[in-house]
Amino acid sequence: MQTSAASSLATIRERIARAKARFGPPPDRVRLVAVSKTFAAEEIEPFLGAGQRLFGENRVQEAKQKWPGLRARFTDIELHLIGPLQTNKAHEAVALFDVIETVDRDKIAIVLAEEMQRAGRQLPCFVQVNIGLEMQKAGVAPGETATFVARCRTEYGLNIVGLMCIPPDGMPPGPYFAQMVALGRAAGVAQLSMGMSSDFEIAIGMGATYIRVGSALFGCRPKTP
Ligand SMILES: *Cc1c(COP(=O)(O)O)cnc(C)c1O
Repeated sequence: MQTSAASSLATIRERIARAKARFGPPPDRVRLVAVSKTFAAEEIEPFLGAGQRLFGENRVQEAKQKWPGLRARFTDIELHLIGPLQTNKAHEAVALFDVIETVDRDKIAIVLAEEMQRAGRQLPCFVQVNIGLEMQKAGVAPGETATFVARCRTEYGLNIVGLMCIPPDGMPPGPYFAQMVALGRAAGVAQLSMGMSSDFEIAIGMGATYIRVGSALFGCRPKTP
């Protein structure tokens, strides 16, 4: 298991390196978020053993069961919340995660800011953008992104460092990624979390600084929650 985790990581790292070289962005700009949702602590451990420290989870409850134990043994883990957050889970999310990638509405921004202040933990946050304006997806509309980021910063006091998106299924992602670059610039954020197993090389080419890779590292999930 250790060997296969190491070789999956090596393969993805090599593909990242090749994509960076091909598109010529500044080196070390792209960070790999290993998306471990649905996989058990025992299945994550080999990836920690192979040196990966940055992980993404999409559910607070699931993360709560898996990560405190792993953190006890690996102290330098960085855990990102990449799934939707309900206000009643904000308290736990602030305690469990290091970065919140899914700030997508005023209500959650306000509650997160309160919880962070209470906990004395000012976490870096990303604003999720509904880049394809899809009914079923979370995120602020592209046209509202810059004002929402500004409001999160000045009114709520959140540390917004970047934008995150999941482009529509079955569409070429390039134009959406390009739009994210423009939105990031307009909003004054340095980080862009975009690109998953099927399109992370394209995202790197367009200017991603975080890519979120699940199945290409861990294998197929039973059923995507
Ligand atoms: C599951 C998930 C990913 C990883 O998807 P893969 O296609 O398995 O790489 C990335 N981002 C978010 C928000 C996810 O929920």
